[in-house]
Amino acid sequence: MQGLMMDTQLLITSILRFAEKNSPTAEIVSVTHDHALFRYTYSEAFARSRKLANALAALGLDAATSDRVGTLAWNDHRHFELYYGVSCSGLVVHTINPRLFSEQIEYIINHAEDRVLFVDPAFLPILECFRHKLSTVEHIVVLSDREHMPESKLDDLLCYEELLAAQSDSFLWPSLDEKQACSLCYTSGTTGNPKGVLYSHRSTILHAYATALPDAMNLAAVDCVMPLVPMFHVNAWGIPYSVPMTGGKLVLAGQGMADGEALFQLIETERVTASLGVPTIFLALLNWLELNDKNLTRLQRIVVGGAACPEKVISVMAEAHGVSVHHGWGMTEMSPMGVINTLKPSMDELPASEVMRLRLRQGRGLFGVEIKITDDEDKELPWDGHTFGALKVRGPWVCMDYYRSDPDASPTLDTDGWFNTGDIATIDADGFMLITDRSKDVIKSGGEWISSIELENTAVNHPGVLEAAVIGVSHPKWSERPLLLVIKKADAELSKQDMLAWFEGKVASWWVPDAVEFVTELPHTATGKLQKRALRELYVDYVLPQTPE
Ligand code: AMP
Repeated sequence: MQGLMMDTQLLITSILRFAEKNSPTAEIVSVTHDHALFRYTYSEAFARSRKLANALAALGLDAATSDRVGTLAWNDHRHFELYYGVSCSGLVVHTINPRLFSEQIEYIINHAEDRVLFVDPAFLPILECFRHKLSTVEHIVVLSDREHMPESKLDDLLCYEELLAAQSDSFLWPSLDEKQACSLCYTSGTTGNPKGVLYSHRSTILHAYATALPDAMNLAAVDCVMPLVPMFHVNAWGIPYSVPMTGGKLVLAGQGMADGEALFQLIETERVTASLGVPTIFLALLNWLELNDKNLTRLQRIVVGGAACPEKVISVMAEAHGVSVHHGWGMTEMSPMGVINTLKPSMDELPASEVMRLRLRQGRGLFGVEIKITDDEDKELPWDGHTFGALKVRGPWVCMDYYRSDPDASPTLDTDGWFNTGDIATIDADGFMLITDRSKDVIKSGGEWISSIELENTAVNHPGVLEAAVIGVSHPKWSERPLLLVIKKADAELSKQDMLAWFEGKVASWWVPDAVEFVTELPHTATGKLQKRALRELYVDYVLPQTPE
């Protein structure tokens, strides 16, 4: 017997309708190249999304073929309008990461067969190089008003504000199937071509519901949320959906997302209560605050993910600014949230060092995502807090295949329908997961695994260290041993011996790196992650000093 409840489709259109009715006056504040601070309401934003939908129809875009609409844009109100105007029309918004190599950008636009591109003026020069090779792109729309349209070598540019001004703000949103695609984001993988993850309306709604929960991002109408994760990568962790769902205010920081002063001003003047981003963004903010002797007075909490959160982000945010830090983990293939760190009852009464140890773990399960760790034979491993295994996930916002995937590639899921994340993790009895490495980066020393992430975290906690990377280099006896690469702070007096001595008592003695090299820069991927593969290639012939047997 089936239940007798309505078969209402889970659509992004329903967030738009709900927010228009229930939070019409909630604000969106945005920084763009033509507005130092633009301010309007959800009601005005969605009226403009309807104009945009009319404009897309006038350009000949067709929902029947789920036409793809590319964006190369910062976090701002026009990008927000595109998120809704495109997806709710039955089209697919393809957010493109402008930090990818230009060959990769060209590849993904052609692979996605984007018909129209909406581009921030700052990113036009990227397109100028290979516009002639974009066979499916019929129009390029610049996200600007006429007055601020940039000079460009491209001569077929449309102006966003003119496009909207020519349209009515009434549009009948189509009824869609919840499984229909709504958005597309390519991975920023370091090997091979980027792969497209195609989200559905249903996956996006379920992800937004779950991430808004109190033990996740705890979003509410009283919040003012400033995502410092880009809207061009994994939908800014779903914030453009989950915040309108809960009725909060949104602050979209535009191009200045790594500018400490700009962020401080926005946080204080707009009364931002919650923010999200990768560790480097918050390290930059903390650095600026320290140099300028300023304190955050409004911010209550931040979610830090995308890379392991250093201890000092947690401690300085709490002690100097009263901000609680929640570590989180996920990936493009997971929309992206997988786990988030909120403590369970009485855990905050544990000794401070124990609380910190727990907070440094990436977090615990979010209802909707199943997680497990397995050994090389695919046997599930215990949740005991110290057994390492390949981290696998399953759930309605996890991808089951890549968009137009290579037919010769190995299947995306294993035979039981689990997705192998490529991360190595431990899970403790309370369900707190700790990422110890990417499977490609873990250091295999004498048959045992050493976590490069834990060594990097230990190194960056040294007051003289700006950034650190640890890679495995070959060793005649142990097969691999850790090599530490360090960028020192400008004024730091730090010798190699000091650096290695720092690890004593902080990690197992056999984990201590065999050598350290001071460098001036470290390579990063388009999403700010360390490019360990490039480092391994660079140090492939590195000879480690002789170590005692
Ligand atoms: P992306 O798909 O570009 O978002 O990258 C996802 C990958 O980033 C994950 O598979 C992890 O390797 C890494 N990652 C994400 N969050 C964290 C975190 N909190 N700590 C360590 N690694 C992370």
